[in-house]
Formats: sequence, structure tokens, C-alpha cells
Amino acid sequence: EYILAIETSCDETAAAIIRDGKTIVSNIVASQMDSHSRFGGVVPEVASRHHVEQVTMVIQQALEEAQVTPKQLTAVAVTEGPGLVGALLVGIQAAKTFAFCHQLPLINVHHIAGHIYAAQLSEPLTFPLIALIVSGGHTELIYMKEHGSFETIGQTRDDAAGEAYDKVARVVGLPYPGGPEIDRLAAVGEANIPLPRAWLEEGSLDFSFSGLKSAVLNAWHNAKQRGETIDAADMAASFQASVIEVIVAKTKEAVKQTNARQLIVAGGVASNKGLRAAIQSEFNQSEVVVTIPPSAFCTDNAAMIGAAASMAWARGIRAPLSLNARPSYPLSQWLSGENNS
Ligand code: ATP
Ligand code: MG
Ligand code: FE
Repeated sequence: EYILAIETSCDETAAAIIRDGKTIVSNIVASQMDSHSRFGGVVPEVASRHHVEQVTMVIQQALEEAQVTPKQLTAVAVTEGPGLVGALLVGIQAAKTFAFCHQLPLINVHHIAGHIYAAQLSEPLTFPLIALIVSGGHTELIYMKEHGSFETIGQTRDDAAGEAYDKVARVVGLPYPGGPEIDRLAAVGEANIPLPRAWLEEGSLDFSFSGLKSAVLNAWHNAKQRGETIDAADMAASFQASVIEVIVAKTKEAVKQTNARQLIVAGGVASNKGLRAAIQSEFNQSEVVVTIPPSAFCTDNAAMIGAAASMAWARGIRAPLSLNARPSYPLSQWLSGENNS
């Protein structure tokens, strides 16, 4: 089984060929980072335009590198949502056109399911499992009792983890995207600035990062007003310590509550070195299998979409050529049939 997967939900134009849902035959990612960084964030219209320019070439490259012809393909998979509507539409149109021209079935994939199934490119999934999603738009704890079953047991009430990283980075004067910059600085800074931890109600698996973000902002500006300066590396380290402490504790609680046998950490922030190390050491002594994909498969890519598509394909999921983008899209609705009209 060979699946051509296409991902254009945000600011990377990506295509990949995946064999049997677990082997990467080719994986092409064209990032638009440079175009967006001068605006300090992703500009939706700019993203769509770049996708239009890149998508055909990226698909071509994925096929060439894999040395796979359209005839050998089993299906074409594409990210249906969530994401930027204009960006999603470019990938969806490309996938539909390719599927139509080559008479191939089309598979619609949920972007967050893709982030989770990136883990399957490293090792098989063992159920029940907990997936911790920490990305630019999501911070969630998802319980999976089997393939294709997604129950959200915790989520952010305000900002996503990646969003908090990007905003804090901006406050301390780091370029976009701020996550990797904070990660780099945190490693050399001292976590010596007192910042809050948002535990919420006793036993809650929900997250909140907006208070922490405000605390960073206030500390930074108050110091400035007093004519003092805070070391950016110390601020990065302090912020990161707060984020990691809460995420690790809630993840541990989720694993405990559900008797999970595997923990997957996924999404862009899962490439954070501090978070990876903290999770690994927390579960070091436990029997839980911890899977954190290599950094390149934590941030957006199409290989993960291919891995999720393979699972969906096995469950009979097929999308019509009338498939539309779903900019906001609850994960629980993906395989429920509500979208496959
Ligand atoms: P979503 O997947 O929720 O739709 P997205 O696709 O925009 O959002 P991803 O590409 O999964 O998000 O992740 C991007 C986010 O990850 C950005 O906020 C970025 O700052 C953050 N990020 C990337 N690398 C790191 C890192 N090393 N440390 C912390 N954050 C990071
Ligand atoms: Mg991105
Ligand atoms: Fe993503």
C-alpha cells in the first residue's frame, strides 16, 4: 500500500509517500518561515499564495524521490482541517485534482490525528494510549482505547502551548517562530524568575497559559520601567520551567487515570528539548512506552498525514471529490461519518 499524502494547513507545503502506514518512502516539506517571519507571524493570505506556488512541485518531488508512479499509488490523502481555510483549500484542490486525473481514491485526514500518528512512523501504537498534543493551535490530552478512537480528556482553556511560546518570544524580542528560540535560550538561562503555574481545579486535566504569558509580560515591562533589565535567557528558562512542570504533571495524571500503556507526545512543541527530556525522565522508571517522534515529524509534515490516512483507509474512510476544508474541526468528528457526505 502506497499513500500520497498532502498537508497545507498552515505554513508548510508538504507531500510524502508512506508505505503501509509506517514507512516513509519520501517526505518533502517546503517551509514558508522566511516569508512570515518579517510579519512576526503567519499571514493567511501569504500562506495560501505560497501553497499555490509550491504544491505541484512538492508533490512532484515526493513522487520522484520515492520513485513511485501514480499507478502504484493506493490512494491520495489530504489534510481536511483544522487550519487556515485558504491554506487547506489549496492542498485539498491539489489532492482532488490528482485523485481525479489518476483515478485514485481520496482520504480526508484530521491534522491533529496526523500529529498523533506521526508516532507510528517510529513504532507501533499500543493501546490504551495517551497522546499529549502540544502545537501552535492545540494543547490537549487525548485518550485512545483503540485505533481511530479519540477522546479529549484535557484541553487548554485559552492559549495553546506553542502560541504562548511565540507570544513570550515576541515580548523578549526574539524572532518568529519563537518556540525554537526560547528552547535554545532556556538551555543557557537560569529559571530564577518566579512565574505562576496554572494547575486549575484539583484533578483537572485542562491547561491555561494566558496567565503565565501575562506574568512574563508584566515582569518584563515592570523591570524596564524601573530601568532594570531581565536577562532574556533567564526569562526563557523560567517560562519554560513553568510550562513543562504543568504539562508533565497533567500528562502523568492522565496516564495514571487511564492506565495507558503508551504515551505519545506530538505537535510542534514536542520538538522542545526541555519538554522531551522532562517527559523521558518522568517516565524513565515506568512501564509506559514513551514515543516522541524526531523533531522533523513533530512540526507540520505530510508523512504524519499519510500514517493517519493508512489507518483511516483500513477503516473504509473515503472522501468524495466534493470534499471541503474544515477550518475548525473537532477530532471526535473525523471518523464518525459526519463529514463524509
Ligand atoms: P496545529 O497543529 O495546532 O494546527 P500548527 O500546525 O501551526 O498548529 P505545529 O506546526 O504543530 O503547529 O507547531 C508549531 C508551533 O510549535 C509553533 O508555535 C512553534 O513556536 C512551536 N515550536 C516549534 N519548535 C519548538 C521548540 N523547539 N520549542 C517550543 N516550541 C516549538
Ligand atoms: Mg508551521
Ligand atoms: Fe500542526
